[in-house]
Amino acid sequence: MIQIDLTGQVAVVTGGSSGIGLATAELFLRAGASVAICGRDTERLAQAEIALNAQFPNASLLARRCDVLDADDVGAFAQAVQARFGRTDMLVNNAGQGRVSTFADTTDDAWREELDLKYFSVIRPTRAFLPMLRDAAGNASIVCVNSLLAQQPEPHMVATSSARAGVQNLIKSFAVELAPQRIRVNSILIGIVESGQWRRRYAKEAQPGQSWEDWTAELARKKNIPLGRFGRPEEAAQALFYLATTLSSYTTGSHIDVSGGVARHV
Ligand code: NDP
Repeated sequence: MIQIDLTGQVAVVTGGSSGIGLATAELFLRAGASVAICGRDTERLAQAEIALNAQFPNASLLARRCDVLDADDVGAFAQAVQARFGRTDMLVNNAGQGRVSTFADTTDDAWREELDLKYFSVIRPTRAFLPMLRDAAGNASIVCVNSLLAQQPEPHMVATSSARAGVQNLIKSFAVELAPQRIRVNSILIGIVESGQWRRRYAKEAQPGQSWEDWTAELARKKNIPLGRFGRPEEAAQALFYLATTLSSYTTGSHIDVSGGVARHV
């Protein structure tokens, strides 16, 4: 395995209290970076902080409540990172969740809410952390967690799919605008990854007595996932880690598909 030493560098992961974000925070800490995570639920955040500190007793970790849709929260989070670490080298825009609804059952308010979440969960943290990323001596990066729905929409997730496509377009613009400032901007396009979102759907939708393994295997079959299973948070995290660090120093405006082969286009 390629080793990379991130000692002295700072990684910020929005939505780092669960799932993909938490797995990504683990990878950064393992590589020696200082890490800041945020989330809305203070209990979940505290549990993540305890788990990370137990795993990495010498970790330099900041866990702070912040709703990425609240400009004041995001500004305060960036200030807290500046005060604690004095810099940001890598920003992972990960916070969010999907919306299951067809065109027939998506109201105007639901459309606005979904567009707001998908766009501003990227725009607000990017804007708030940009001054620190600019100061990061030319090795800065932003990586966004996006979905394969951006390229391959699903009618039962119409608003999410459409918003995801727009965000993918936005990321390309960011990459071009920020390249002269030597900030790379990339994304991952994920399919289905086992995480909090899917645990919550399992709790709601599984048949009585149906195990998590049986439920996910059945879904993987129904969704024709060529690799035959859901992805794991650490598999998405590894792609994020690659794009965030200088392992991908000549890559910007690009994406990695982490969908288990679901993408049908060449
Ligand atoms: P989880 O639910 O496990 O994690 C989501 C994280 O985001 C939590 O830490 C959550 O904490 C945080 N979060 C959600 N909304 C906000 C907000 N407004 N402000 C701050 N933090 C927030 O899900 P995943 O790990 O699966 O999700 C990670 C990303 O991947 C999300 O953007 C999701 O939409 C995307 N994705 C996931 C897929 C999957 O199959 N898992 C598929 C496609 C995309 P809290 O709730 O406490 O705020």
